[in-house]
Amino acid sequence: MRALSLHPDVIVVTSSVWQTSATLVRGPGEQPEAFLVDSPVLPVELDAVTNLAQSGGFDVNGLLATHADWDHLLGRQAFPEAPLGVDERSAARLQSRIGEPQRKLREFDQQWYVERAVPLALGEFQPLPVPGRLELGEHEAEVHDGAGHTGDGLVLWLPWARTLIVGDYLSPVELPSWDEHGSREMYRATLDRLALLVPEARWVVVGHGGAVGSDEALRVLDEDRDYLAGGEPPSRGPRSVAKAQHAANLAAWDSTAVPLPELAELALPGAPAAPPADLDVRPHDPS
Ligand SMILES: [Zn+2]
Repeated sequence: MRALSLHPDVIVVTSSVWQTSATLVRGPGEQPEAFLVDSPVLPVELDAVTNLAQSGGFDVNGLLATHADWDHLLGRQAFPEAPLGVDERSAARLQSRIGEPQRKLREFDQQWYVERAVPLALGEFQPLPVPGRLELGEHEAEVHDGAGHTGDGLVLWLPWARTLIVGDYLSPVELPSWDEHGSREMYRATLDRLALLVPEARWVVVGHGGAVGSDEALRVLDEDRDYLAGGEPPSRGPRSVAKAQHAANLAAWDSTAVPLPELAELALPGAPAAPPADLDVRPHDPS
């Protein structure tokens, strides 16, 4: 695992597994609130994030996930009390497949003999409108649509730290990929949105690969746009992995996305009646 401070209020932790990125973000003020976006994978890394937050003065009282793939959902293993905020579509996905992240985590742990002190409990999760905004004291984070890799997903722009957290896009270590609820077309639409955001950023946190500078992110963005237009894969990551991913992409090159189920609000397991005070949410008003 490695940790990198991008800004006094932003620390990125990169897991030794798949280089999965997690970001500690802090707001301004006397007793600033903080949240964790995504998660590292290994128990020792999750403990390290808890300690890093404590020693760095990040009072984490909320979690966010860029999308609902299990390896991004482990934040509660580091902060068991913190509510998890997710894209409404992620909430729908989690609701329609209860227990799936836990099952996939168990499979991973069994394969690699990983022992965890406690099983994963997602607890209360809070659906967020996407696009939208998150208030953090006097700062606002922008939430943009990040669907495509999966049918759900959000991109987070932190203007005060000029940091963009993109989820599973722009990775220098893996090719683009999409599941049955995403598509190449949706993926390209998110790349188009990122093309407007990345030039404003100093740092871009990619879902796999840690933090990269905006020049590097733009280089990967160009490569991915070319790849998804022309079908010629850039050389990236371990060759056998890239080869298998490219083959999977070709098999789904022109497939259309299977829609995610609608979020059934009343049946949401454990959802709070009102958003917790620490995550002040309101719909995005572009005007
Ligand atoms: Zn991922």
